[in-house]
This record gives sequence, C-alpha cells and structure tokens, in this order.
Amino acid sequence: MAKEDYYAVLGIEKDASDEEIKKAYRKLAVKYHPDKNPGDKNAEEKFREATEAYEILKDPKKRQQYDQFGHAAFEQGGGYGGGGFSGFGGFGGFDISDALRAFMSDFGSSDLFGFGGSRGGRRGGGGGGIPGNDLQIRLPLTLEEIASGVQKTLKVRRKEKCSACNGTGSKSGKRTTCTKCNGAGRVRQVAQSFFGQVIQESVCPVCRGEGQVATDSCNSCGGSGLESSETTVTVDIPKGVAEGNYINVPGKGDAGRNGGPAGDLIVLIQEKRHDFFQRHGIDLICDVDITFSNAALGTSKMVETIDGKVSLKVPSGTQSEKIFRLKGKGLPSLHGRETGDQLVRVHVRTPEKLSKDAKNLLEKLAEMGL
Ligand SMILES: [Zn+2]
Ligand SMILES: [Zn+2]
Repeated sequence: MAKEDYYAVLGIEKDASDEEIKKAYRKLAVKYHPDKNPGDKNAEEKFREATEAYEILKDPKKRQQYDQFGHAAFEQGGGYGGGGFSGFGGFGGFDISDALRAFMSDFGSSDLFGFGGSRGGRRGGGGGGIPGNDLQIRLPLTLEEIASGVQKTLKVRRKEKCSACNGTGSKSGKRTTCTKCNGAGRVRQVAQSFFGQVIQESVCPVCRGEGQVATDSCNSCGGSGLESSETTVTVDIPKGVAEGNYINVPGKGDAGRNGGPAGDLIVLIQEKRHDFFQRHGIDLICDVDITFSNAALGTSKMVETIDGKVSLKVPSGTQSEKIFRLKGKGLPSLHGRETGDQLVRVHVRTPEKLSKDAKNLLEKLAEMGL
C-alpha cells in the first residue's frame, strides 16, 4: 500500500519549522485521538498516521533522511532505520498502540485527556542505567464497570531484578568494560543499502548499551540481571473510559538495569459487547418491543437502564421506531462534566399467533378501518 507523504499527512509545507510541525500534529492528534472518537476506525488510522509522520519529522536527523530518501529510509533493512523507534520493534509495525505510546511520551499526561502518567521527564533524566521496557496489558471492561468506574487487580508478568545476582548479571558482582563498544554502549556500523553506504548507530549488542559486561555470568539469569516474575497491580479505572483509552501506571513495567528506572505499565481499555445497550459516545441506545395495543392506547413500560429499571411513559398513538430519550441515563463523560442519555427505540410488534377472541376483536377493528 502506498504511504502518504508525511508532510501531506500533517498538512504542512516541506520547509515547515519545528514549531509548525508540532502545532500541526497536536491539532490532528487532539482531533483524531481514540479517546475522542471511540470505536471510530477511520479516526484511529488518521491518528496513527499523523503520529508516525510526526515521530519522523520532529527529529531533524530522521527528517533529513526522509527528505532525501522518502519512506524507503525507514523501511526494514533500509538506511537509518531503527533509532528512536527501536522501542516499537522496528518500523514496519507502527500500530495504534505504538502511536498512543509515542503521543504519551511526547505530550505526557497533558490536560487533554485528564489521566495518564508522568512519562514526560522520566526518560530523559540523566543518571546511569538502562530504563526497563514498558509493558502493555489489555483490560476488557463491561459497560456497567465503565459507567461506575472500577478498581481492577491485574496479574502482570514483568521482569524484576534477579535475586541471585542482585541485578548485576554477574556471579561475583565484578564487571569489566565491554570490548565490543569500548564502554560507549553504542556501536557504529557501515552498512550497504540501496542508497549506498550509510552509517548506522545502534545499541551495542554485547552489553546492551551498558558499556560494561559481567565477567562471570550469573547462572540464574544468564547475565541479563533480570528474572521473570508475576505480580499484581491494582488500577483505578475512572468512570467514562472508552475503547482505546489507556492508563499509565508508572514504574510497573520491567525493572531497569544498573539503577535505571523501571518501565511503565500501560493498561489499554477494551469495551466488552453489551447484550442490551449499544454505546454511542456517552449515550446508550437500546431497543424495546411494545404491542400494537400499547402503542395505540399508551402505556408505562419498565425499561432496563445501566443502573436499574425505570418506567418509560409511552404515549397513545406511538409509532414504531420512535425514539424516547431518558435524560441522564447514559454514561458519564471522562471528566465527569456531563452525563449522556439513554435512547430507547420502540418497535411495535405485530402479533403472530392470535386466539379466537383476539382474532374476533381485530376483525372488528379492521371493520372500523384500524
Ligand atoms: Zn558494549
Ligand atoms: Zn542473575
């Protein structure tokens, strides 16, 4: 599939300033963010696309590569690849969760969405060590849980400091300078690509960026300094979340190495299908059957809401497919500023089996032109 030009995606000129790029992206991200467009696949794709474009164009080095080589510069095996995207597992798979993460790390827990974590400063903060990986976990919720907010205890498999070597990766605790990178933690490689020679800088594969290696690897963790463990994490889910929202739990991802900070746990909200309600933003839609006579004469009908039953007044002369609005019986918005409505669509059901009496009565009605 042909990719659209990154500048066109963001709607900016080729000579746009960094500030213009950021502004253009922010505008699109706010408009198309999944939080604001629950269940809208088209918006989700636009958000993903804009984020991908922004992640490239905000970085002067990558932007220059892109200007020179186009999309090919970032395809697997091509030119400069990797770099800042290494955390996303290569460029081929920049999916919606990558986009959400990138957005979060660029804008942190901005006031746009009210929740999320303080991802902004943590990464850049100096000090040695290698930060742990972020973990992602999907959390399916019922509409009832979404309506009231809920506390969930999640089982999480994460990497923790190896208890045998206390995270050093070494039996004796002794470490020596990595000979592959001479302690720099990064290696430069000259690679041949379609475009000629390119210099690729990447994390040193031997010391994984630490610049030091254990002299005698720990048997328990094989020198990684980390071991797998299962823990539980309790997360408070605010009312009104939607599919695609995420909650960032700082420090609950994989442990860092060598004193590096732990990664974050990113909890991605999923919405379970409801038997009775369909969600439409903060409104809930449902379908209710009424009889022909109730529609003609009017009735009170007990209707399920998200928090119990209420009586719905159906006036006489109600037509099939009429929609009644139960004010305030929908979902709360994420910031709790408003509450949606419940929309009840009534369907007048024609009786299929008639008793003899009913048939006689209906025949009389028919004679009267009803
Ligand atoms: Zn090294
Ligand atoms: Zn160990």
